Amino acid sequence: MGFDGMNCPNCGADLPETLTRAKMVACRYCESAVVLEDDALRTAGEKGVMAEEPSLFVLGREIRYRRESWLPVGQARFSYGTGWWDEFWAVDGGGEGVWISVDEGEIAVERPYEIDVTLSPWQLKRGENVSLNGETFTVTEADTATCMALRGEFPEALHVGQAYRYWHLSGPMGRLVTLEFSEGEFAASEGVWVDPYLIRSENAGA
Ligand SMILES: [Zn+2]
Repeated sequence: MGFDGMNCPNCGADLPETLTRAKMVACRYCESAVVLEDDALRTAGEKGVMAEEPSLFVLGREIRYRRESWLPVGQARFSYGTGWWDEFWAVDGGGEGVWISVDEGEIAVERPYEIDVTLSPWQLKRGENVSLNGETFTVTEADTATCMALRGEFPEALHVGQAYRYWHLSGPMGRLVTLEFSEGEFAASEGVWVDPYLIRSENAGA
């Protein structure tokens, strides 16, 4: 039996079938962010207003980097003191996802990362060394960002208006770890900074 489809709890519009593997989607028709939890849908606040900016990354337009390609399916915008950046959730052909953070010319690609140590926000100060999964990383940035707007779908629930503490850590071989702390829990992702000139977008310049 096929999937029957799901509807926005706020406006009743059809939600994309991909919501069965994503945990959250911003309804395309109303202001709702919708979360799938224990097979039930609930609204999780508003999706916010995403001011359009020219970008190499567009939802539904495949991008290539070296031998990999991803389809951006979600866009979350965060503000921090002096500006904002976007986090794109992008999936490959096998359905595995990466976070691509785009802050003007700076682009990082990171995968979800399980950490085997218990961390406390107070120990993560700029310049401190932290051991993660047996490797040493240095905290290079510590700040707080607020989610401003959501579009598309995500592997986790995000909330517009919520503040997220985050840290960038640098490790061996140019690796980057991002830690994020909200509601008492850490989420981690691990990856590298990438050269924007090596990213190719389908139909770019068309
Ligand atoms: Zn809706």
